[in-house]
Amino acid sequence: DASLLLFVRVARLGARYVLLLAEDRTESFRLDEMRRDFIANISHELKTPIGAVGLLAEALVSASSEPEQVKRFAKRLTKESERLARITQEIIELSRLQATDALARPELVDIDLVVSMAIDQNRVAAESHEVLLVTKAKSGARVYGDEALLVTALHNLIANAIQYSPVRSRVGVGVIRRDDVIEIAVTDQGAGIPADELDRVFERFFRGDPARSRNTGGSGLGLSIVKHVAQNHSGDVRVWSQLGKGSTFTIRLPKAITAIPIPQGAQK
Ligand code: ADP
Repeated sequence: DASLLLFVRVARLGARYVLLLAEDRTESFRLDEMRRDFIANISHELKTPIGAVGLLAEALVSASSEPEQVKRFAKRLTKESERLARITQEIIELSRLQATDALARPELVDIDLVVSMAIDQNRVAAESHEVLLVTKAKSGARVYGDEALLVTALHNLIANAIQYSPVRSRVGVGVIRRDDVIEIAVTDQGAGIPADELDRVFERFFRGDPARSRNTGGSGLGLSIVKHVAQNHSGDVRVWSQLGKGSTFTIRLPKAITAIPIPQGAQK
């Protein structure tokens, strides 16, 4: 929108002149607003599991004479506290990513290694969802960046692909080397995303149709983290999706330029 927030200061300069200082505060106002929204969302997201933990603890006390019930409540208590820990971890991760645009110390990262680490982290989930995780041959691709952050981003995409896929479907992870970019694509044969939600899935705390998101234990922060990791690497993340057919998420990163050897004669 076109609204502008101006901060104006007036100072008298002697009897005849007035100095007007106008400062554009639109951006800082927008950032303040975003921060306020973020905190409001965090409080809202944390309220539910914290409330559940309290209720379950009470139920546990009153069910102490029935071992089966105690077991059931204790299991749910563990699940809720795991969820709390995950959301907290994601909030910390996202705040850290949002605090700075640039990576602290970019290093040469082997994308094949990133792919195999992210896949390994998702093997158990794939097995329990009966989803087949497939990947192509090694690409040899390299980028400048932060290996741990790239693994986190790819992990989130693969975890979602598994989460939103039916049993006995495939999730594919592939790396494509283009002229100046590397593309890491995660494709699933899952529920797909409605067209009107496609633009919103990368927003913080956005969660799709409750029917699909219910009980998945997610926080709606996963894709927002992916977006920030891609942006911090001067790249981006895109999505293609068809309802009922599946989705493909692609992280695009600038290719690392390998050092060009200096010709012999030029070395002085
Ligand atoms: P979460 O998965 O915790 O809800 P995300 O930020 O990872 O949060 O994803 C946001 C929303 O995008 C999800 O709630 C879901 O509706 C949708 N989504 C993400 N990945 C997929 C996918 N592979 N297939 C279908 N829907 C997806």
